[in-house]
Amino acid sequence: MKRRKRMKVLGQWVTLEHTDLQSEELWGDCDVAKRHIRIKVDATDDEYNRVLRHEVCHMRLGISGLSELMTPELEEALAVLAETP
Ligand SMILES: [Zn+2]
Repeated sequence: MKRRKRMKVLGQWVTLEHTDLQSEELWGDCDVAKRHIRIKVDATDDEYNRVLRHEVCHMRLGISGLSELMTPELEEALAVLAETP
């Protein structure tokens, strides 16, 4: 599956980096200020799609400002909910 290098989230361009996150024991992360998402490079397509939906949810909550109104635990729970289409 071709993996995009950028996508629009809430009308703003977000860059996608597929990188080795093994040393950090992460599947992905999201830097809202830099509009940048990293996803583990060796994820299978199913894992990739799940992580992308999770990180895009964090990005949507961050760009919209909603993440400022909730606890980190609530934001994480919403991101987990977003993993499954
Ligand atoms: Zn998360």
